[in-house]
Amino acid sequence: ALILGLESSCDDSAVALVTSDRQVIAQRVVGQNQAHAPFGGVVPEIAARAHVEVLPGLVTQVLDEAGIALAEVDAIAATAGPGLIGGVMVGLLTAKGLALASGKPLVAVNHLEGHALSPRLVDPALGFPYLLLLASGGHCQLLEVRGVGDYRRLATTIDDAAGEAFDKAAKLLGLPYPGGPAIEVLARQGDPTAVPLPRPLVGSPEPHFSFAGLKSAVQRAVAAGSHRPADIAASFQQAVVDCFIDRTRRALQASDAPSLVVAGGVAANSAVRAALQQLGADEGRAFSVPPGWLCTDNAAMIAWAGAERFAAGLIDGLDAPARARWPLDERAEAVRGAGV
Ligand code: ATP
Ligand code: FE
Repeated sequence: ALILGLESSCDDSAVALVTSDRQVIAQRVVGQNQAHAPFGGVVPEIAARAHVEVLPGLVTQVLDEAGIALAEVDAIAATAGPGLIGGVMVGLLTAKGLALASGKPLVAVNHLEGHALSPRLVDPALGFPYLLLLASGGHCQLLEVRGVGDYRRLATTIDDAAGEAFDKAAKLLGLPYPGGPAIEVLARQGDPTAVPLPRPLVGSPEPHFSFAGLKSAVQRAVAAGSHRPADIAASFQQAVVDCFIDRTRRALQASDAPSLVVAGGVAANSAVRAALQQLGADEGRAFSVPPGWLCTDNAAMIAWAGAERFAAGLIDGLDAPARARWPLDERAEAVRGAGV
Protein backbone atom coordinates (compact mmCIF):
# COMPACT_ATOMS: atom_id res chain seq x y z
CA ALA A 1 0.00 0.00 0.00
CA LEU A 2 1.04 3.62 -0.58
CA ILE A 3 0.52 5.98 2.37
CA LEU A 4 0.73 9.79 2.47
CA GLY A 5 1.74 11.07 5.92
CA LEU A 6 1.47 14.55 7.48
CA GLU A 7 3.18 15.79 10.66
CA SER A 8 2.56 19.14 12.36
CA SER A 9 2.46 18.52 16.13
CA CYS A 10 5.34 20.79 17.08
CA ASP A 11 7.59 23.10 15.04
CA ASP A 12 8.26 20.93 11.99
CA SER A 13 5.90 20.79 9.01
CA ALA A 14 6.49 17.47 7.27
CA VAL A 15 4.99 15.35 4.51
CA ALA A 16 6.09 11.93 3.25
CA LEU A 17 5.03 9.16 0.89
CA VAL A 18 5.88 5.69 2.21
CA THR A 19 4.99 2.19 1.03
CA SER A 20 4.10 -0.77 3.23
CA ASP A 21 7.20 -2.53 1.86
CA ARG A 22 9.39 0.13 3.50
CA GLN A 23 10.18 2.45 0.58
CA VAL A 24 10.32 6.15 1.42
CA ILE A 25 9.24 7.45 -1.99
CA ALA A 26 9.58 11.15 -1.14
CA GLN A 27 9.64 13.33 1.94
CA ARG A 28 10.04 16.94 3.05
CA VAL A 29 10.59 18.49 6.48
CA VAL A 30 10.46 22.25 6.96
CA GLY A 31 11.46 23.51 10.41
CA GLN A 32 10.57 26.85 11.99
CA ASN A 33 13.66 27.53 14.09
CA GLN A 34 14.09 31.06 12.72
CA ALA A 35 10.50 32.02 13.50
CA HIS A 36 10.82 30.93 17.15
CA ALA A 37 14.46 31.90 17.78
CA PRO A 38 13.72 35.39 19.18
CA PHE A 39 11.52 33.78 21.87
CA GLY A 40 13.96 31.05 22.98
CA GLY A 41 11.40 28.28 22.50
CA VAL A 42 8.43 27.22 20.38
CA VAL A 43 5.51 29.70 20.40
CA PRO A 44 2.34 27.61 19.75
CA GLU A 45 0.42 30.34 17.89
CA ILE A 46 3.35 31.07 15.55
CA ALA A 47 3.83 27.34 14.94
CA ALA A 48 0.18 26.80 13.99
CA ARG A 49 0.19 29.73 11.57
CA ALA A 50 3.38 28.51 9.93
CA HIS A 51 1.86 25.05 9.39
CA VAL A 52 -1.14 26.71 7.67
CA GLU A 53 1.23 28.44 5.25
CA VAL A 54 3.62 25.56 4.60
CA LEU A 55 1.87 22.21 4.84
CA PRO A 56 -0.39 22.22 1.73
CA GLY A 57 2.56 23.24 -0.48
CA LEU A 58 4.63 20.38 0.93
CA VAL A 59 1.88 17.90 -0.01
CA THR A 60 2.00 19.13 -3.60
CA GLN A 61 5.80 19.05 -3.69
CA VAL A 62 6.04 15.51 -2.32
CA LEU A 63 3.40 14.16 -4.71
CA ASP A 64 5.03 15.96 -7.67
CA GLU A 65 8.52 14.78 -6.76
CA ALA A 66 7.25 11.19 -6.56
CA GLY A 67 5.22 11.55 -9.75
CA ILE A 68 2.21 10.20 -7.84
CA ALA A 69 -1.36 11.46 -8.09
CA LEU A 70 -3.48 11.69 -4.95
CA ALA A 71 -5.80 9.13 -6.54
CA GLU A 72 -2.99 6.54 -6.45
CA VAL A 73 -2.51 6.84 -2.67
CA ASP A 74 -4.20 4.14 -0.55
CA ALA A 75 -4.62 6.11 2.68
CA ILE A 76 -3.85 9.48 4.24
CA ALA A 77 -2.23 9.45 7.67
CA ALA A 78 -1.79 12.46 9.93
CA THR A 79 -0.67 13.13 13.47
CA ALA A 80 -3.83 13.60 15.56
CA GLY A 81 -1.92 14.25 18.81
CA PRO A 82 -0.35 14.60 21.25
CA GLY A 83 1.24 17.99 20.67
CA LEU A 84 0.56 21.71 20.35
CA ILE A 85 -3.14 21.60 19.57
CA GLY A 86 -3.20 24.39 16.95
CA GLY A 87 -0.58 22.65 14.82
CA VAL A 88 -2.18 19.24 15.30
CA MET A 89 -5.50 20.68 14.07
CA VAL A 90 -3.86 22.17 10.97
CA GLY A 91 -2.28 18.85 9.94
CA LEU A 92 -5.28 16.70 10.80
CA LEU A 93 -7.69 19.00 9.02
CA THR A 94 -5.43 19.17 5.96
CA ALA A 95 -5.45 15.36 5.89
CA LYS A 96 -9.23 15.30 6.27
CA GLY A 97 -9.55 17.68 3.32
CA LEU A 98 -7.34 15.42 1.21
CA ALA A 99 -9.30 12.34 2.32
CA LEU A 100 -12.60 14.06 1.54
CA ALA A 101 -11.42 15.20 -1.90
CA SER A 102 -9.93 11.84 -2.88
CA GLY A 103 -12.31 9.44 -1.14
CA LYS A 104 -9.31 7.72 0.50
CA PRO A 105 -9.41 6.55 4.12
CA LEU A 106 -7.96 8.65 6.93
CA VAL A 107 -5.58 7.17 9.51
CA ALA A 108 -5.31 9.27 12.69
CA VAL A 109 -1.86 8.56 14.10
CA ASN A 110 -0.59 9.07 17.64
CA HIS A 111 2.72 10.96 17.22
CA LEU A 112 4.28 8.72 19.88
CA GLU A 113 3.23 5.64 17.92
CA GLY A 114 5.07 7.23 14.98
CA HIS A 115 8.25 7.38 17.08
CA ALA A 116 7.58 3.90 18.55
CA LEU A 117 7.16 2.12 15.21
CA SER A 118 9.79 4.17 13.31
CA PRO A 119 12.58 1.57 13.72
CA ARG A 120 10.46 -0.98 11.85
CA LEU A 121 10.50 1.25 8.75
CA VAL A 122 14.25 0.66 8.37
CA ASP A 123 14.71 -2.66 10.21
CA PRO A 124 12.55 -5.43 8.68
CA ALA A 125 14.03 -7.93 11.18
CA LEU A 126 12.60 -6.04 14.16
CA GLY A 127 9.52 -7.99 15.27
CA PHE A 128 7.21 -7.59 18.27
CA PRO A 129 7.64 -7.39 21.19
CA TYR A 130 10.48 -4.98 21.89
CA LEU A 131 11.49 -2.82 24.80
CA LEU A 132 11.47 0.84 23.74
CA LEU A 133 13.21 3.81 25.31
CA LEU A 134 11.21 6.72 23.89
CA ALA A 135 13.23 9.87 24.55
CA SER A 136 11.93 13.02 22.87
CA GLY A 137 11.19 16.69 23.45
CA GLY A 138 8.03 16.02 25.42
CA HIS A 139 8.46 12.45 26.69
CA CYS A 140 10.81 10.00 28.38
CA GLN A 141 9.24 6.57 28.73
CA LEU A 142 10.07 2.89 28.74
CA LEU A 143 7.44 0.90 26.86
CA GLU A 144 6.94 -2.67 25.87
CA VAL A 145 5.83 -2.52 22.24
CA ARG A 146 3.76 -5.70 21.77
CA GLY A 147 2.08 -4.93 18.48
CA VAL A 148 0.46 -2.12 16.51
CA GLY A 149 -1.66 -0.18 19.01
CA ASP A 150 -0.55 -2.47 21.83
CA TYR A 151 1.78 -0.72 24.27
CA ARG A 152 2.53 -1.30 27.93
CA ARG A 153 4.14 1.61 29.69
CA LEU A 154 6.71 0.47 32.25
CA ALA A 155 8.05 3.87 33.29
CA THR A 156 7.92 7.58 32.59
CA THR A 157 9.56 10.79 33.77
CA ILE A 158 8.32 12.28 37.02
CA ASP A 159 9.25 15.80 35.87
CA ASP A 160 11.04 16.93 32.66
CA ALA A 161 11.36 14.99 29.40
CA ALA A 162 14.87 14.05 28.25
CA GLY A 163 14.87 16.38 25.24
CA GLU A 164 13.45 19.14 27.41
CA ALA A 165 16.43 18.64 29.76
CA PHE A 166 18.82 19.01 26.81
CA ASP A 167 16.99 22.16 25.68
CA LYS A 168 17.04 23.72 29.17
CA ALA A 169 20.71 22.86 29.75
CA ALA A 170 21.55 24.38 26.36
CA LYS A 171 19.68 27.57 27.21
CA LEU A 172 21.64 27.84 30.49
CA LEU A 173 24.85 27.49 28.44
CA GLY A 174 23.70 30.16 26.00
CA LEU A 175 23.29 27.69 23.14
CA PRO A 176 20.53 28.03 20.52
CA TYR A 177 17.27 26.02 20.38
CA PRO A 178 16.93 23.06 19.83
CA GLY A 179 19.54 22.37 22.48
CA GLY A 180 20.18 18.67 21.91
CA PRO A 181 22.31 18.94 18.77
CA ALA A 182 24.15 22.01 20.15
CA ILE A 183 25.03 20.19 23.41
CA GLU A 184 26.20 17.15 21.47
CA VAL A 185 28.60 19.24 19.35
CA LEU A 186 29.97 21.21 22.33
CA ALA A 187 30.31 18.03 24.44
CA ARG A 188 32.82 16.62 21.92
CA GLN A 189 35.38 19.16 23.18
CA GLY A 190 34.62 18.54 26.86
CA ASP A 191 35.53 16.13 29.64
CA PRO A 192 32.46 14.11 30.75
CA THR A 193 34.01 13.56 34.20
CA ALA A 194 34.94 17.22 34.84
CA VAL A 195 31.74 18.45 36.51
CA PRO A 196 30.10 16.35 39.24
CA LEU A 197 26.37 16.17 38.40
CA PRO A 198 23.60 14.03 39.96
CA ARG A 199 22.04 10.92 38.36
CA PRO A 200 18.46 11.29 39.62
CA LEU A 201 16.61 8.03 40.49
CA VAL A 202 19.56 5.83 39.50
CA GLY A 203 19.33 2.63 41.51
CA SER A 204 15.65 3.05 42.41
CA PRO A 205 13.54 -0.10 41.90
CA GLU A 206 10.96 1.32 39.47
CA PRO A 207 12.62 2.34 36.17
CA HIS A 208 11.28 5.92 36.22
CA PHE A 209 13.22 9.01 35.12
CA SER A 210 13.81 12.47 36.58
CA PHE A 211 15.78 15.32 35.03
CA ALA A 212 14.70 18.47 36.91
CA GLY A 213 17.43 18.08 39.55
CA LEU A 214 20.03 17.60 36.86
CA LYS A 215 18.95 20.85 35.23
CA SER A 216 19.25 22.70 38.56
CA ALA A 217 22.75 21.26 39.03
CA VAL A 218 23.73 22.51 35.57
CA GLN A 219 22.36 25.92 36.54
CA ARG A 220 24.58 25.95 39.64
CA ALA A 221 27.62 24.79 37.65
CA VAL A 222 27.10 27.59 35.11
CA ALA A 223 26.58 30.17 37.87
CA ALA A 224 29.76 29.05 39.66
CA GLY A 225 31.68 30.25 36.62
CA SER A 226 34.59 27.89 37.28
CA HIS A 227 33.87 25.29 34.59
CA ARG A 228 34.43 25.33 30.84
CA PRO A 229 31.07 25.25 28.99
CA ALA A 230 32.28 22.24 27.00
CA ASP A 231 32.98 20.35 30.24
CA ILE A 232 29.49 21.17 31.54
CA ALA A 233 27.94 20.01 28.25
CA ALA A 234 29.93 16.76 28.23
CA SER A 235 29.21 16.06 31.91
CA PHE A 236 25.50 16.78 31.44
CA GLN A 237 25.27 14.49 28.42
CA GLN A 238 27.09 11.75 30.34
CA ALA A 239 24.68 12.11 33.28
CA VAL A 240 21.67 11.68 30.95
CA VAL A 241 23.31 8.64 29.32
CA ASP A 242 24.00 7.11 32.75
CA CYS A 243 20.34 7.59 33.75
CA PHE A 244 19.19 6.02 30.46
CA ILE A 245 21.45 3.00 30.95
CA ASP A 246 20.56 2.32 34.59
CA ARG A 247 16.81 2.78 34.08
CA THR A 248 16.67 0.82 30.83
CA ARG A 249 18.73 -2.03 32.30
CA ARG A 250 16.24 -2.19 35.17
CA ALA A 251 13.34 -2.41 32.69
CA LEU A 252 15.14 -5.05 30.60
CA GLN A 253 15.60 -7.21 33.68
CA ALA A 254 11.81 -7.23 34.11
CA SER A 255 11.08 -7.91 30.43
CA ASP A 256 11.77 -10.91 28.22
CA ALA A 257 11.44 -8.85 25.02
CA PRO A 258 14.17 -10.08 22.66
CA SER A 259 15.01 -6.61 21.31
CA LEU A 260 15.95 -3.20 22.69
CA VAL A 261 15.07 -0.07 20.73
CA VAL A 262 15.68 3.64 21.31
CA ALA A 263 13.69 6.25 19.38
CA GLY A 264 12.57 9.90 19.57
CA GLY A 265 14.64 13.05 19.01
CA VAL A 266 17.20 12.33 21.75
CA ALA A 267 18.00 8.99 20.04
CA ALA A 268 19.72 11.09 17.36
CA ASN A 269 22.50 11.68 19.92
CA SER A 270 25.54 9.53 19.12
CA ALA A 271 26.58 9.05 22.78
CA VAL A 272 23.05 7.85 23.58
CA ARG A 273 23.04 5.50 20.58
CA ALA A 274 26.44 3.99 21.43
CA ALA A 275 25.59 3.47 25.12
CA LEU A 276 22.22 1.81 24.41
CA GLN A 277 23.79 -0.42 21.79
CA GLN A 278 26.34 -1.58 24.37
CA LEU A 279 23.56 -2.19 26.90
CA GLY A 280 21.69 -4.35 24.38
CA ALA A 281 24.84 -6.42 23.82
CA ASP A 282 25.47 -6.74 27.58
CA GLU A 283 21.89 -7.88 28.20
CA GLY A 284 21.82 -10.30 25.28
CA ARG A 285 19.17 -8.41 23.26
CA ALA A 286 19.09 -7.44 19.61
CA PHE A 287 19.45 -3.66 19.25
CA SER A 288 17.82 -1.24 16.84
CA VAL A 289 17.88 2.53 16.48
CA PRO A 290 16.54 4.52 13.51
CA PRO A 291 18.89 6.84 11.58
CA GLY A 292 19.01 10.39 12.97
CA TRP A 293 16.60 11.88 10.43
CA LEU A 294 13.98 9.33 11.53
CA CYS A 295 14.53 10.06 15.27
CA THR A 296 13.66 13.76 15.18
CA ASP A 297 10.21 14.75 13.95
CA ASN A 298 9.42 13.74 10.37
CA ALA A 299 6.44 12.55 8.35
CA ALA A 300 7.95 9.25 7.17
CA MET A 301 7.37 7.81 10.65
CA ILE A 302 3.76 9.04 10.60
CA ALA A 303 3.17 7.56 7.13
CA TRP A 304 4.82 4.31 8.32
CA ALA A 305 2.65 4.11 11.47
CA GLY A 306 -0.26 4.81 9.11
CA ALA A 307 0.85 1.90 6.92
CA GLU A 308 1.05 -0.41 9.95
CA ARG A 309 -2.41 0.64 11.16
CA PHE A 310 -3.91 0.47 7.65
CA ALA A 311 -2.56 -3.08 7.27
CA ALA A 312 -4.23 -3.96 10.58
CA GLY A 313 -7.54 -2.53 9.35
CA LEU A 314 -7.41 0.44 11.71
CA ILE A 315 -8.82 3.44 9.83
CA ASP A 316 -10.59 6.48 11.26
CA GLY A 317 -13.66 8.55 10.45
CA LEU A 318 -13.61 12.19 9.37
CA ASP A 319 -14.77 13.00 12.90
CA ALA A 320 -11.41 11.87 14.37
CA PRO A 321 -10.53 14.31 17.17
CA ALA A 322 -7.32 16.34 17.54
CA ARG A 323 -5.87 15.64 20.96
CA ALA A 324 -3.36 17.75 22.92
CA ARG A 325 -2.84 14.84 25.31
CA TRP A 326 -2.95 11.22 24.19
CA PRO A 327 -1.15 8.50 26.18
CA LEU A 328 0.21 5.73 23.99
CA ASP A 329 -0.95 2.89 26.23
CA GLU A 330 -4.60 3.91 26.02
CA ARG A 331 -5.79 2.47 22.68
CA ALA A 332 -8.68 0.07 23.20
CA GLU A 333 -8.61 -1.53 19.77
CA ALA A 334 -5.14 -3.03 20.05
CA VAL A 335 -4.23 -5.66 17.49
CA ARG A 336 -1.48 -7.74 19.02
CA GLY A 337 1.28 -8.64 16.61
CA ALA A 338 -0.56 -7.16 13.63
CA GLY A 339 0.87 -4.69 11.13
CA VAL A 340 3.12 -4.90 8.13
P1 ATP B 1 7.38 14.60 21.41
O1 ATP B 1 7.82 13.65 20.36
O2 ATP B 1 7.61 14.11 22.80
O3 ATP B 1 6.00 15.11 21.18
P2 ATP B 1 8.91 16.56 19.99
O4 ATP B 1 8.21 15.96 18.82
O5 ATP B 1 8.97 18.01 20.15
O6 ATP B 1 8.32 15.90 21.32
P3 ATP B 1 11.23 15.28 18.93
O7 ATP B 1 11.26 16.01 17.65
O8 ATP B 1 10.85 13.87 18.89
O9 ATP B 1 10.38 16.00 20.06
O10 ATP B 1 12.64 15.48 19.59
C1 ATP B 1 13.11 16.79 19.75
C2 ATP B 1 13.98 16.79 20.98
O11 ATP B 1 15.13 15.98 20.71
C3 ATP B 1 14.48 18.17 21.36
O12 ATP B 1 14.33 18.33 22.74
C4 ATP B 1 15.94 18.15 20.95
O13 ATP B 1 16.77 18.95 21.73
C5 ATP B 1 16.28 16.68 21.11
N1 ATP B 1 17.40 16.30 20.27
C6 ATP B 1 17.48 16.36 18.92
N2 ATP B 1 18.71 16.00 18.50
C7 ATP B 1 19.43 15.68 19.62
C8 ATP B 1 20.76 15.26 19.86
N3 ATP B 1 21.63 15.09 18.86
N4 ATP B 1 21.14 15.05 21.15
C9 ATP B 1 20.26 15.22 22.17
N5 ATP B 1 19.00 15.63 22.00
C10 ATP B 1 18.58 15.86 20.75
FE1 FE C 1 8.39 13.93 18.33
